[in-house]
Amino acid sequence: MDIVIIGAGVIGLATAWRAAARGAGVTLVDPAPASGASSVAAGMLTPVSELTYGEEPLLRLGLASRDRYAAFAAELEEASGLGTGYRADGILEVAFDADDLKHLDELRRFQESLGIPAEALTGRECRRAEPMLAPGVRGGLLAPADGSIDPRRLAPALLAAGERLGVRPVRRRAASVIVEGDAATGVRLDDGTELRADRVLLAAGPWSGDIGGLPPGVVPPVRPVKGQVIRLRTAVPFLRRATRGLVRGSSVYLVPRTDGEIVIGATQEELGFDTRVTAGGLWELLRDARELLPGVTELEFAEVSAGLRPGSPDNAPLLGPTALPGLHLGTGHFRNGILLTPVSADLLAEMLVDGTVPELARPFAPGRFDGAGARSGA
Ligand SMILES: Cc1cc2nc3c(=O)[nH]c(=O)nc-3n(C[C@H](O)[C@H](O)[C@H](O)COP(=O)(O)OP(=O)(O)OC[C@H]3O[C@@H](n4cnc5c(N)ncnc54)[C@H](O)[C@@H]3O)c2cc1C
Repeated sequence: MDIVIIGAGVIGLATAWRAAARGAGVTLVDPAPASGASSVAAGMLTPVSELTYGEEPLLRLGLASRDRYAAFAAELEEASGLGTGYRADGILEVAFDADDLKHLDELRRFQESLGIPAEALTGRECRRAEPMLAPGVRGGLLAPADGSIDPRRLAPALLAAGERLGVRPVRRRAASVIVEGDAATGVRLDDGTELRADRVLLAAGPWSGDIGGLPPGVVPPVRPVKGQVIRLRTAVPFLRRATRGLVRGSSVYLVPRTDGEIVIGATQEELGFDTRVTAGGLWELLRDARELLPGVTELEFAEVSAGLRPGSPDNAPLLGPTALPGLHLGTGHFRNGILLTPVSADLLAEMLVDGTVPELARPFAPGRFDGAGARSGA
C-alpha cells in the first residue's frame, strides 16, 4: 500500500507515522513541514472548554484523543528520541464577574451531564492553585484530566518517528491530485514530478481546498481562521498549569511550558489568508492577560505570530474517504487540531491502510456537507 500525504502539519505528520507503523509506504509532501497552524498553536489539550453546546460528537472525539495522549506522547518520545513537552496537569478556567461565573457554572453542569469530572473552585481556591492570579478572580473550574503539549516539539518528533519507519518527506508543493478513470492515483508536484499512490490523503490545513485536479464536489469546504499569539519567557515559576479566563466575556489563555515559555492566545479573525500580526490583536491579548495575571507584564517578550486554523462549516474535522475513490481527507480541525492529533492519526491510518471506517470516525465523514460530494463510509 503506497500512500501520498499532502501537508506535513501535525495531522499529516502523525498519520504518516501511524500508517507507516501499519506497514504502508508513505510519502509526505510539504515545501515547509509544520509551517502552518501547527507551529503557532498554544497546544492546549482540552476537549470541553473550547466547545460550544450541541457539538457532542466532537466532544467525544476530543475526549477519546485526550485520553490517548499520555500513551501517544510516551510512544512518540520513545520512537523519536525527542521530547514533546506533554503535560497532564489540568486546565484552570476562571471568571471575574457574575455573568462569567454563570457561564462557568453552566459549563460544569453540561460536563457533568456527560459524565466528565470538573471541579468548581472559589476565588480563594483558584488563587491557591495559581498564586499569580488577579485578586478579582471570583471562581473557577478545574478540568483535572486536561493538559498541554508543545506543538513546536510535537511536529519534529512526529517527523523523526515517521522517518525511522521509512516515511519519505518530499519538500515540494503539491500542485494537483492526479485523477485517472474516476479515481485519485497520485499527486503532481509543482515541478511536474508525479508521485503514484494507492491512496492520497489531503491534509493541507486551510490550503486543502486549493489543490488542483479535484472534481468540484470533492473540494473540502475549509477556510482559514486567523489566530494571533504572543510568546513570553520567564526564568522563575509563574504559572503551574494552562489557565484560561473570561474577561468581560472575552476569552484569553496562558499556557506555560517546562522551559519557561508562556504562550498567550488567541484572537479569532475571519480575514482569509492573512497572517499579519496587528497592534490591535496584541493589545487585546496583553490587556486581557494582564487582567487575569497582573504580573504578566514583567515577563520577557519573546515572539509574536499569527496562524490560520483550518475551519470547517460545523467546526469539526473532515476525516476519511471521499466520493473520489483513492482520495481521503484529514483536515478542518479548526481550534482542536493539536488535541485531535492522536485520534485523527489512528482513525485515518486505519481508513487508509485497512479501508474500514471506524465507528468513531463516522460523524466526521467528508460527505456530510452538501457540495463536498464525499460518500459517507465509502
Ligand atoms: C493561534 C492558534 C492557537 C491554537 N491553539 C490550539 C490549541 O491550544 N489546541 C489545539 O488543539 N489546537 C489549537 N490550534 C489549532 C491547531 O493548530 C490546528 O487545528 C492544527 O495545527 C491543524 O493542523 P493541520 O496539520 O491540519 O494543518 P497545518 O498545521 O496548517 O499544516 C498544513 C500544512 O500543509 C502544508 N501545505 C499547504 N499547501 C500545501 C501544498 N499545496 N502542498 C503541500 N503542502 C502544503 C503547509 O506547508 C503546512 O505545513 C490553534 C491554532 C492557532 C492558529
